[in-house]
Amino acid sequence: MICKKCKKRMKEIKVNVEGAKLSSKAFECSKCGDLQFDRESGLKVVKELEKKKKACPLNMEQKITKLSYDRLGFYFNKDIVRCLDLKPGEKVYLTVLDKNNLLINRN
Ligand SMILES: [Zn+2]
Repeated sequence: MICKKCKKRMKEIKVNVEGAKLSSKAFECSKCGDLQFDRESGLKVVKELEKKKKACPLNMEQKITKLSYDRLGFYFNKDIVRCLDLKPGEKVYLTVLDKNNLLINRN
């Protein structure tokens, strides 16, 4: 790969993309620092991220049900269980952020 601006040979580097296991190949010019992504490996990373998104539907509606006279609860449906690999007996920590937001954390 040759830099379009300075016509210098570009050095191959690896670019880590947040949330993806694969890293994208890119070429960096040692003179001007111009970065050129390798199309093929870039597309692979994009595909991996898309697959992940599909495997984890993050938005869904759940109904609060009555468990006993003063306790309410809701179910983790099978998609969430599969996506997070939840196990019965596992502990989660709840944090009330405000009147409309509840955060659920594992460990
Ligand atoms: Zn350059």
